[in-house]
Amino acid sequence: MEIFTRLRGMKDILSEEIEIWKKIESVFIETSELFGFKEIRTPILENKYLFERGIGSNTDIVMKEMYEFKDKKGREVALRPEGTASVVRAYIENRVYSTKKIARFYYYGPMFRYDRPQKGRYRQFYQFGIEIFGGKSPFFDFETIQVLDFSFKKLRIENFVFYINSLGCKTCKKVYIEEIKKYFRERVNNLCEDCRRRIEKNPLRVFDCKNSMCKTELKNIPSILDFLCEECKNHFDVLIELLSKFNINYKIAPHLVRGLDYYTKTVFEVFVEKEDIAIAGGGRYDDLVHDMGGPDIPAVGFAAGIDRIVPLVNQKNIKKIETIYFIILGEKAKIKGLEIIRKMIEEKIGIEIDYEERNLKEHLSIANKLGKKWCIILGENEIEKKVLILKNMEDGSQIELKEDTMIEKIKEIVKC
Ligand SMILES: [Zn+2]
Ligand SMILES: [Zn+2]
Repeated sequence: MEIFTRLRGMKDILSEEIEIWKKIESVFIETSELFGFKEIRTPILENKYLFERGIGSNTDIVMKEMYEFKDKKGREVALRPEGTASVVRAYIENRVYSTKKIARFYYYGPMFRYDRPQKGRYRQFYQFGIEIFGGKSPFFDFETIQVLDFSFKKLRIENFVFYINSLGCKTCKKVYIEEIKKYFRERVNNLCEDCRRRIEKNPLRVFDCKNSMCKTELKNIPSILDFLCEECKNHFDVLIELLSKFNINYKIAPHLVRGLDYYTKTVFEVFVEKEDIAIAGGGRYDDLVHDMGGPDIPAVGFAAGIDRIVPLVNQKNIKKIETIYFIILGEKAKIKGLEIIRKMIEEKIGIEIDYEERNLKEHLSIANKLGKKWCIILGENEIEKKVLILKNMEDGSQIELKEDTMIEKIKEIVKC
């Protein structure tokens, strides 16, 4: 018989790890809701051209990594490779701007990229993100950074730092791009083949090249921060001032450009230097709503990579729901056992039970393997005496609980 396996680059998340996932999700959701964000759920499957328009047709994501196919009617569709394009589409399509001056959304779910799988990188991966529409003040940029900062601190992620840069607006970006084209043209022989092609089409992409020759050439490149127009410079300065004032751990990173085309002004990444990974990134995209057919509305947001955050969260910081291992001995005890279990569930006392016929020794060994702290034992003897046995698996001690007061007693002793 053929045994099915996961598709390449896909992963199963089993019960040992899922508690960490749920913790991260709940921290992000709670923090966002405290800042007034509301959830938005968009479809995973969209018109493929939405992403070409929203992300940029000459980005790696759209050119190489999209899960795209034709549906039964021949429509060209794609699994979303990121969240922003869909949220912007929904914002425009549902005319949210007509009722809300400022709209705050958060989203969470799987994204898909047909990328080469490597450590911490899957073809189905999970992102939590927020978007704020309608605000052009740098205080909104600061708010998105605060949501991340509060969340990572609550998750006790260590040594994370915000890398901050500005890409300017259409006007100053254009001046800068001409400047670096000139710079690269003078050094074209020192660049890798891919980057030679990038110079004219999309020179900012050279910044993300992993080739060591290209990296060397980037060391002395002019900084975009020296080319910002007055408005963009002011925007950047206010944000930096806020970060300093509220002790956010940041570094100015003039080479940070991010892989997506839509950013204007602020861009940032959250980096864990010890692990050499980015766990979140975002920025401002003041032209995107307009470029996707909506009104001229500024926006800013971030996306955090949950798959990469999971290994950084210490399992010890996670409170698990403790369940008591319930042992029923003998056929006659089964119905009585079920009656007690129903009462326990109603009182929110968690239980785990194995209904198969086993002797006490076997049951206790199973409970041990599961790492249970407490067992309840109910046999025919106990039924006759109208009691239950509560056993402490750590020190082996046990006590008898009377049937009429056992729920209160269990709550008191087990503290669940
Ligand atoms: Zn500008
Ligand atoms: Zn290169």
